[in-house]
Amino acid sequence: KTFEDLGLSKPLLTAIAAQKYGKPYPIQQEAIPAILSGKDIQGIAKTGSGKTASFVLPILEGFLNKKASRRRNLKVLILVPTRELAMQISEVISAFTENLEDEVKNLAVYGGIKVNQQMVQLKDTEILVATPGRLLDLISSQSVSLGKVETLVLDEADKMLDLGFKEEFGQILKLLPKKRQNLLFSATLDTKIIDLKKEILNDPVTIEI
Ligand code: AMP
Repeated sequence: KTFEDLGLSKPLLTAIAAQKYGKPYPIQQEAIPAILSGKDIQGIAKTGSGKTASFVLPILEGFLNKKASRRRNLKVLILVPTRELAMQISEVISAFTENLEDEVKNLAVYGGIKVNQQMVQLKDTEILVATPGRLLDLISSQSVSLGKVETLVLDEADKMLDLGFKEEFGQILKLLPKKRQNLLFSATLDTKIIDLKKEILNDPVTIEI
């Protein structure tokens, strides 16, 4: 199948072509239609599989369909274990959105740089890519609110658990609206991930690559 067959529309197809993507990778074949249909996802896939575009593209498609109503609220929260991954995902989102008629604001926040700088940019961020610790700092200084989030992505969730972010997850989950779409990605499927899946996902589609 092509990206068009998977349900993505013209502006994104143009952006995908500009990135020189050919056919959708296997994880994209499965994840894109499932995410577009609103399902929760458990994805078991490694870096290099194309997993970033597998969630970024359908999330952006949802934005294009909503236009004005979505404005100036944080709608998508992507939690990641490291600064490098945060920056990388933010760059992928920017690459797909830079030529869209309809501007989409995304921002990466992570520890190790001044909080002040991030606070200013947070104001009308619609998609936030964050490490859990820095996100909680920004929440406690009331720089960000999670009350309007519609989609939660946990990327490299196994690594986040290995780094000891379980407690932070708990705190963040309590601040999110109950009704939301959840996308959980990990490289492995161990008991910790199975527990997290039970806690977070609602009737998920499982995709193992
Ligand atoms: P990821 O697993 O998300 O880190 O992606 C791995 C690499 O594959 C990145 O450099 C992407 O730009 C590239 N990529 C992802 N999907 C496709 C695709 N459908 N066609 C060609 N390259 C892709």
